[in-house]
Amino acid sequence: MNPFTYTKAENVAKAVDEISSHSRAKFIAGGTNLLDLMKVNVMRPSHLVDITHLDLDKIEENATGGLRLGALVTNADTAYHPEVKKRYPLLSKTILAGASAQLRNMATNGGNPLQRTRCYYFYDTATPCNKREPGSGCSAINGFNRIHAILGTSESCIATHPSDMAVALAALEAQVLVSGKKGERTLNFADLHRLPGNTPEQDTNLAPDEIITGYDLPAQGFAQHYTYLKIRDRESYAFALVSVAVGLAIESGSIITARVALGGVAHKPWRVPEAEALLTGKTPTRENFTLLAEAYLQRAQGYQHNTFKIELAKQAIVRALEQASQTKANP
Ligand SMILES: Cc1cc2nc3c(=O)[nH]c(=O)nc-3n(C[C@H](O)[C@H](O)[C@H](O)COP(=O)(O)OP(=O)(O)OC[C@H]3O[C@@H](n4cnc5c(N)ncnc54)[C@H](O)[C@@H]3O)c2cc1C
Ligand code: SF4
Repeated sequence: MNPFTYTKAENVAKAVDEISSHSRAKFIAGGTNLLDLMKVNVMRPSHLVDITHLDLDKIEENATGGLRLGALVTNADTAYHPEVKKRYPLLSKTILAGASAQLRNMATNGGNPLQRTRCYYFYDTATPCNKREPGSGCSAINGFNRIHAILGTSESCIATHPSDMAVALAALEAQVLVSGKKGERTLNFADLHRLPGNTPEQDTNLAPDEIITGYDLPAQGFAQHYTYLKIRDRESYAFALVSVAVGLAIESGSIITARVALGGVAHKPWRVPEAEALLTGKTPTRENFTLLAEAYLQRAQGYQHNTFKIELAKQAIVRALEQASQTKANP
């Protein structure tokens, strides 16, 4: 491991000051991703700002009738929080589909969506990788790319984003609360992550001095009709090959709102609002769900080893929509 310095921040303003006054500094929360990457020499911060003592460890009502999730609440405490289970069971189910109980006890709401890709070449410092070392090339495009993206890729990078929680936050249309040197701002969760383009080293639209302080969930939590379907190689302790988060609002047998976010297929949680609109006013039938699935995958491009994901994603979407149209109880 490379040498680095370390400080513990007592409040958000000090955390932002600390990160701004060091080059190559990083925040550390649960450390379950950052420390792993430091151990294998993929990330080499010169300074760590420990944010675990900031007052961002609460889940409370927000001004719009939804919930505010503090960035330092652990994934476990979030998933098992009574209000989250009751009003946002999709989020609870999605978090519990990720990692292991031990990891969820350490992992934080801020750190989870900011974890980095699980592309094997990104972890292997002996191979070229534009995300790890800009300009060096992408080993995955012509390499073993079974777990890689089929949507929103570029010639520079075909990595997927690995977070499960992020997929639910995208479907719920959460807002991201951010603080930085220029003050506070809010951004739509859909705008947090970037597509790779020709700058795949930048995973998000956060400035280097910005800290996520929390998320605002809107009042609509789809507590009656929701699901998270995660398709993976092993039933536990594995990242998604394809995942689907669904929230439906159904009244008198007609779909009023449909939200569908895909994981494991792109550099960010993938939504196609125009395809969701195809279900508005329609009945929850397999035929209508298939229309949405086809529209979601219309622009998909397979690489040598991952073309199977296109059909897998279509079938997973239909199955998830069928499950969600039938759910009525909380987990
Ligand atoms: C074996 C294993 C299996 C796993 N399986 C899954 C899985 O199936 N699904 C899944 O979703 N995840 C999985 N994970 C990943 C795990 O969920 C993440 O490592 C964890 O959620 C990261 O949270 P953290 O608080 O530990 O982040 P850290 O490691 O502390 O930080 C991660 C990144 O976020 C930044 N950061 C942290 N907090 C903030 C903040 N508030 N504002 C700005 N920047 C911040 C850090 O600087 C760092 O760059 C797995 C991990 C392991 C080791
Ligand atoms: S897909 Fe992205 S992360 Fe993986 S090797 Fe290519 S550039 Fe690196």
